[in-house]
Amino acid sequence: MSFLCCGSSDSKDLDTTAVNVTRKVETVKSTNVTMAAPIKVVVTGAAGQIAYSLLYQVASGAVFGPEQPVYLHLLDIAPMMGVLEGVVMELADCALPLLAGVLPTANPEEAFKDVAAAFLVGAMPRREGMERKDLLSANVRIFKEQGQALDKVARKDVKVLVVGNPANTNAFICAKYAPSIPKENFSAMTRLDQNRAQSQLATKLGVPVQNVKNVIIWGNHSSTQFPDASNSVVKIGGGEKPVPAAINDDNYLKTTFVSTVQKRGAAVIAARKMSSALSAAKAASDHMRDWFLGSGDRWVSMGVISDGSYGTPRDIVYSFPVTTSNGKWKIVEGLTISDFAREKLDLTGKELVEEKQDALDVCKD
Ligand code: NAD
Repeated sequence: MSFLCCGSSDSKDLDTTAVNVTRKVETVKSTNVTMAAPIKVVVTGAAGQIAYSLLYQVASGAVFGPEQPVYLHLLDIAPMMGVLEGVVMELADCALPLLAGVLPTANPEEAFKDVAAAFLVGAMPRREGMERKDLLSANVRIFKEQGQALDKVARKDVKVLVVGNPANTNAFICAKYAPSIPKENFSAMTRLDQNRAQSQLATKLGVPVQNVKNVIIWGNHSSTQFPDASNSVVKIGGGEKPVPAAINDDNYLKTTFVSTVQKRGAAVIAARKMSSALSAAKAASDHMRDWFLGSGDRWVSMGVISDGSYGTPRDIVYSFPVTTSNGKWKIVEGLTISDFAREKLDLTGKELVEEKQDALDVCKD
């Protein structure tokens, strides 16, 4: 296992601290011959709060499975290299058998080299009272640069999950500037919204959270998103029931449920004075795990490039219900869209079209 020092693109740059944290440990292969070869996984914003929870999950096997070693590439900006060094020390101190090595760096091309999976978390977080649109102009440039770097050095089958906000539009920009990688390999995270929605419904119904499935998040990871319980089902009283029938309160599902999920991020910020981190990291793990290992009989929500399904605008990154298998996602087809839902799907789609245009304008500069 190799732990390199922050900011080193080159072993000759290793300083004393780096030598101290470079630990001589048996390779994963030598401890378990049945293990796969390590895959390289990058996490950006690696010195930040979401990454602090996410890194453990990735390195412990919760995402890529208990037999898949990972080599972690940690990207952050140069002023954060000191903090990142502490994160590298902690990863070493976790003594995780699946962690084949760690490369901390401030250089995107070094970070993205040969990666099979990319968690693009690094961005400026939304602060209290700040609208997501305010973030767009600052953050979209980061994703243009990172798209270009991925295009140059990542594996062509890399799976990219954009967490940094505005996540959908950042994912669109990232894909645009990485034309040699299929657009289907770029996604935006709405899994946190899905998990929030599932949890709200489970609480309302008094059942364990895993008893609720197929709740959908449509559209943008923003306050225009549409959390939709109309197709979800619940295991309750020894059988399976549609959630709307089990709840039997249409008004709740159209009002309180929708607004609670839409505003949950803001509620967490108001309470914590910082944006969601633990739950965001868990959702990022869930998203990538299901993409790599399959979603089974559950629908999951992912921001993916729109093909116009359900009358949504094409060529924006829109959150749909999908199923995943063999590393590919497929939009769930044939759902009935009520007039109520139609209005919501159109509203969030309109916002994404506007965001895309704003982002393209920023990228021209
Ligand atoms: P944070 O401020 O704790 O960490 C962000 C990190 O990104 C910092 O260490 C910062 O130095 C780094 N960074 C900034 N620019 C960078 C760049 N160009 N390259 C690499 N790293 C860079 O923030 P956080 O709480 O971890 O949140 C990260 C992002 O995730 C924010 O944009 C936040 O709004 C977003 N978020 C998304 C969801 C979602 O559901 N999609 C949920 C919660 C938070």
